[in-house]
Parts: sequence; C-alpha cells; structure tokens
Amino acid sequence: DRIISASAQSDEEIIDRAIRPEKLADYTGQKRVVEQMNIAIEAARKRADALDHVLIFGPPGLGKTTLARIIANEMGVNIKTTSGPVLEKAGDLAALLTNLEPHDVLFIDEIHRLSPVVEEVLYPAMEDYQLDIMIGEGPAARSIKLDLPPFTLVGATTRAGSLTSPLRDRFGLVQRLEFYTVDELQSIVKRSAHHLAMDLNEQGALEVARRARGTPRIANRLLRRVRDFADVKSNGKADEKIAAQALDLLDVDRKGFDYMDKKLLEAIIEKFAGGPVGLDNLAAAIGEEKDTIEDVIEPFLIQQGFVQRTPRGRIATANAYVHFGLQYPASGEN
Ligand code: ADP
Repeated sequence: DRIISASAQSDEEIIDRAIRPEKLADYTGQKRVVEQMNIAIEAARKRADALDHVLIFGPPGLGKTTLARIIANEMGVNIKTTSGPVLEKAGDLAALLTNLEPHDVLFIDEIHRLSPVVEEVLYPAMEDYQLDIMIGEGPAARSIKLDLPPFTLVGATTRAGSLTSPLRDRFGLVQRLEFYTVDELQSIVKRSAHHLAMDLNEQGALEVARRARGTPRIANRLLRRVRDFADVKSNGKADEKIAAQALDLLDVDRKGFDYMDKKLLEAIIEKFAGGPVGLDNLAAAIGEEKDTIEDVIEPFLIQQGFVQRTPRGRIATANAYVHFGLQYPASGEN
C-alpha cells in the first residue's frame, strides 16, 4: 500500500479513535469552516431545531468524517453513518431514515455515488422530512408516505462537480475543506503525539508535517511510522533527524511526494511531451483508475503547482521538472 495514500487503511480506525478531535475547538485549521459551523450549530441549538443539512467536500483525509462526528457531538445527538455505494435500494435509505431520532445526524459519505432511485427518496426527506416510497411490485405496488423526525443530513464528497444540482441545492450549508498548511499539520502532529504518549520535539513534528501532503490522515500515519522507528532506533525519542530518517526509509520525499507522483509526472513528461494530456490517456499510461488520479494523486500536485489542469488536458509545470530532477524538453521538441 502507498504510505501516503490519503484513503483510510484497515488498521487505522482503531488507532484513530484515540486521536480524532471530538470538539469543534480541537478541529485544527479550516478557520472559515469552523467559524461558520460554530454559528450555525449555536443558532440551531438556541432555537431547539435540527441543524440545516451540511455538504462537506474536499480530497480524502482532510477531515470530512471527523467534522460530521463533531457536528453530531456539538449538537448532542446521535450519528448514523453510511455511504453512497452502500445504499443500493430506496428501502436501504428508508430503513435508516425511519430509525432516526429527532435532530440526529445522518452521515452519507461519497454522496456523489448515490443511485438515482435513492436520491429521489432523499429529496422530500431533506426538504419536508417526508418519506415517500413505493413498496411492492407490479399491480400490488403502492406508495406510502411517512413523517420523519427533523434530522440533519451531512453529506461528504471528494468532488462537488459530480453532485446533481437538485441534491446540491438542498444543502443549507456547503463547506469546502482546503489542504492544511505545514503549521496546522504541525499542531495536529503534536496533538496526536501527545495522545500517543510519544516523545517528539517541535522540529520532529515539523518534519512529519512537511511531508504530509497537506493531509491530516497522512500526517497521523507518518507519525506512527516515526514512532516505530524511534522506538527501535532511539529509545522512543524522536527529533528532526529521526523523523527524516524514518520517512526517507518510506520513500516519502522532503515535500511529501513518492513514486506515484513521480510516475504520473514522468508519464506526462516522457510519454506526452509535458502535456497537455487527457485523463483517459494518462490513466492508461500509468495503469491507474481515472478516479484515483483525479481524487487522490492529482489534487496535491495541482495545489503545489506541479500539474496544471487545462481544458485540453494535464500539463507538467517547470516546478515539477525541477523537483523530480527531470530534463526540461529542449525548445522545438514538442
Ligand atoms: P475524510 O473523511 O475527509 O477522508 P477523516 O475525517 O477521516 O477524513 O480524517 C482523517 C483523520 O485525520 C482523522 O481520523 C483525524 O484524526 C484527522 N483529522 C482530520 N481533520 C482534522 C483536524 N481538522 N484536526 C485534527 N485532526 C484532524
């Protein structure tokens, strides 16, 4: 597995429980989002209403699930969790909705992958707290309507662009998460190290933060590898040098890039003369899913100014050539 994959890995859920922030006040960074959510939550609580539906979007590992849990916590309600691809039939969603208590949070991850029939059920549920569903088939089929308790739908998606507009329009609050700064990641790393009872100094935390691709999930994962390394090599004490050695060993470079980034950039540069190259061709050239390129590999490369997305396709920038030590094509070559 790619160490800097931003998607959750199997063993992480358990470790994560110890370090996941539970209150908005502990949610590092995302200032604007935190401010807006603070106000919305306080207002809903004052009115004793359910919070408006919230759509959270941003690349994997930036804290969408964490924010959904915090919202439920701060509202003092339960959270039920599911995801777009899991809800196959209208009845799956109906079962969840009818089990909610007033003001509960229903969290749907990957909400852009809901099937159209399920989405249809969601509209009246979101708008009027009404369940409107067909049961049975053929001549015996009938439609039933039920009142639902007021609830809050929190939807998360890596791509706002893939949401249908009727669904998107039904969210009162739309929050976009940004990549974290190195400073913010350093605070997150320090906080996690503290929860893991780890002996890590400021510079060590900074070294982990620098290589975490703007992503808390990656920061926490790298931190655990540094902890292993320190336990074995330096009696558990981790500083900049130990962190750097541990991370070099994992082939995560000083800016958080690895072989996948390099492979993508090399393909653009060597197979497509620096671009522009379309997503389909690029995916075929490196043997990756298009979704993985768009959701996981590319966002950070774009944010760092290594890749540009143009209407004609992806282009490698001069920065990318420099960082990966690749030969800039001589003029006239492309
Ligand atoms: P997503 O749902 O966007 O993929 P998660 O909410 O699962 O991401 O976040 C990944 C991990 O990163 C969480 O388990 C949490 O420990 C950490 N994390 C995310 N956002 C923050 C934050 N703002 N402050 C501190 N830790 C965070």
